[in-house]
Amino acid sequence: MTNPITPADLDELERKISGYSPAVPTKERTAELIACVLDAIPALIAAARERDALRVELEVHKGANNKLRSDLAAEVRRLRAELDEAQDVLVKLEWVRDDGTESPTVYCPECFGTGLAGHKPDCALAAALWKEPTTPTGQEKS
Ligand SMILES: [Zn+2]
Repeated sequence: MTNPITPADLDELERKISGYSPAVPTKERTAELIACVLDAIPALIAAARERDALRVELEVHKGANNKLRSDLAAEVRRLRAELDEAQDVLVKLEWVRDDGTESPTVYCPECFGTGLAGHKPDCALAAALWKEPTTPTGQEKS
């Protein structure tokens, strides 16, 4: 089992290699350098394998992340479509005519605001439609 190589090990190796001058080689210095490099090789190989394994793991995580992002985007689209359908239903129910009369007046079934006056400020139906209190189409505020 090779001990994991540390940044300090790499710094030491780099220092020894850069300190070696081929212009004035000595047997001792050359042997020391070779021993130093040979000693580091197993740890360097292990570090490279670990790096490669981490790269593979990173790609797996990226793939999972992309799938999750895609799934979430699809879910947001589905929920928006569902919300649009619900709002379409609420729009149809937003203003009702007073039964049994010929009155053109329409009312909000939630706040009982009239079509002329619009929704009351705390109307839940207007809030569900994400609207400011308004008047129905074709009617003017008084
Ligand atoms: Zn209302």
